[in-house]
Amino acid sequence: MRTHALCKRYGRVHAVTDLDLEVREGDRFGLLGPNGSGKTTTVRMLLGLVLPTSGEVELLDGPVRKQALARIGALVEGPAFYGHLSGRANLRLFDAAGPGGPGRTRRRRIGEALEQVGLSGVDRRPVKAYSLGMRQRLGLAGALLRRPLLLVLDEPTNGLDPQGIREVRELLLQLNREGTTVLLSSHLLSEVEALCTRIAVMDRGRMVLQDDLAAFREPTGLIEVRTPLPQRAASVLGASVAAVDGEVVSVRSGDPAALNAALVEAGVPVVGLAQQRRSLEAAVLAVTGEGSDVLRR
Ligand code: ATP
Repeated sequence: MRTHALCKRYGRVHAVTDLDLEVREGDRFGLLGPNGSGKTTTVRMLLGLVLPTSGEVELLDGPVRKQALARIGALVEGPAFYGHLSGRANLRLFDAAGPGGPGRTRRRRIGEALEQVGLSGVDRRPVKAYSLGMRQRLGLAGALLRRPLLLVLDEPTNGLDPQGIREVRELLLQLNREGTTVLLSSHLLSEVEALCTRIAVMDRGRMVLQDDLAAFREPTGLIEVRTPLPQRAASVLGASVAAVDGEVVSVRSGDPAALNAALVEAGVPVVGLAQQRRSLEAAVLAVTGEGSDVLRR
């Protein structure tokens, strides 16, 4: 799925400007950005719910087309359910709204979707007795009915407690392992970091960063040594020391084993030693500015 120079204007508000997004098959793609940065508008354009002002969306194999949309599962707003009905009954209504073959096929499809989200055991309970996490999983079951190749989710863990967040995360990981490409938007760095393989960051309607998560985690070339004798370590290591912060000495070195041996030989006890890696947070803050206080861990 890609977009080319995608733009959306609402009167004088430039909600999305010149967006070139590239989501590859098998990705777990995180669209990250503070509130109001244009994520929801982007997701809506991808799904054909909002018409772009200009630019293009290429879905699975070409511009937005009915067939392509049929292979995309979406969870855009908090899904609406009938509270007095069971999860299965809600899915039955949901499924009946789409194309879908004879009753037996529909029943099997619904059963499989409930199974996939781990709700097949509780589906006699009315939805009003579900936790938020269970509701969100039921929403996902709805999105899974069409066996999507691509799942598009807008803030899928919004409003969930840590347990619900973990449930949704594990489910998405599992679906991705089974071959579904996942695109989700979030304003939570930690969520995207825990789940995604590839990331785009939006800021005021523009994409300011797009890369593999691994690229944000590259070693910085510094090794952090933890020792109760930081000053002694610093004098042993001399010019290669980049910084001393409490018990942690940052050293410019590419060889942790040699560094450890040199310190131990000089009688400096080493409690911990780790290669420093870039953090996603630092990379995001560098491009969105410290003012993006709504981008939270
Ligand atoms: P949030 O996390 O708050 O949903 P977002 O990153 O999804 O934020 P959007 O909802 O896409 O951002 O909004 C981007 C900008 O477009 C905002 O300035 C918003 O006020 C504006 N906007 C969105 N929808 C409309 C609309 N229907 N009419 C007018 N302006 C809109």
